[in-house]
Amino acid sequence: MNILTFDIEEWWHYDIYSTEDKWDSYEPRIDLYLDKVLDALDSENIKATCFCLGWIARKYPGVIKRIAERGHEIACHTDRHIFVKDMNPESFNEDLKNALDILENISGKKIKSFRAPSFTITENAKWAFEVLANNGIEYDCSIFPTTRSYGGFPSFGKGKPTLIKHNGVEIKEFPINTGKVLGKDFVFGGGGYFRLFPYWLIKLLMQQSDYNMTYLHMRDFDAEQHRFTYFDFERKFKSYYGLKGTYSKFMQFVHDYKWISVEEAGNQIDWEKVKQLDI
Ligand SMILES: [Zn+2]
Repeated sequence: MNILTFDIEEWWHYDIYSTEDKWDSYEPRIDLYLDKVLDALDSENIKATCFCLGWIARKYPGVIKRIAERGHEIACHTDRHIFVKDMNPESFNEDLKNALDILENISGKKIKSFRAPSFTITENAKWAFEVLANNGIEYDCSIFPTTRSYGGFPSFGKGKPTLIKHNGVEIKEFPINTGKVLGKDFVFGGGGYFRLFPYWLIKLLMQQSDYNMTYLHMRDFDAEQHRFTYFDFERKFKSYYGLKGTYSKFMQFVHDYKWISVEEAGNQIDWEKVKQLDI
């Protein structure tokens, strides 16, 4: 099972220094690749999941409309890209409701799937599952089952579809999966390593698992984007390494595999047979 997902946000939303008061002064670039990507998905007959910010929906409702009209699943990526681990149950609930309202309004459909910015449902933010379930979210894709700079969830275990039970609620989890290169675990379905690894290596990693989850952004394809000055190598790598060849690698990637959306994957799985995790 290979799941194709995109996080629909601007090139600056991930940047921790680009505070909201500056957002209106940046050049919008979300559209440069969106139609190309949607055309590519149409020609391969793929329906993907797009985790959209409420902010994007308010600012560019046409973006959400175009994605929805072409049959892709509109999902939620919070309202303003605040890390979930930095919110509390009340503020997350409010942020989520704002995003779901506008996304459901524009798409005309109930939103079922969610991904936290930078995978920030961490071991200290399990309360988020309750908030998600109470707002009708069925599928979560926020677990990064290893350590990373903003937390991760190393006690989760293997990155496979899992039924999470927490405080009386259930959430169907589609985590990020990892693959081994020289004995070390790597996430390769998006971000820096998707851009860095040559395509043959990505194919090899795909073969190691019967479940692969991706997380791509329009900015991953955009070699001309403005670059923030980062002094730490990890940030720089995560944001900018290998932008140039990524779109053609992506085209090959979508062509070579069978891809489905989160919602479709959720329908195909017998959730009584997957790992059950009480946390
Ligand atoms: Zn994001």
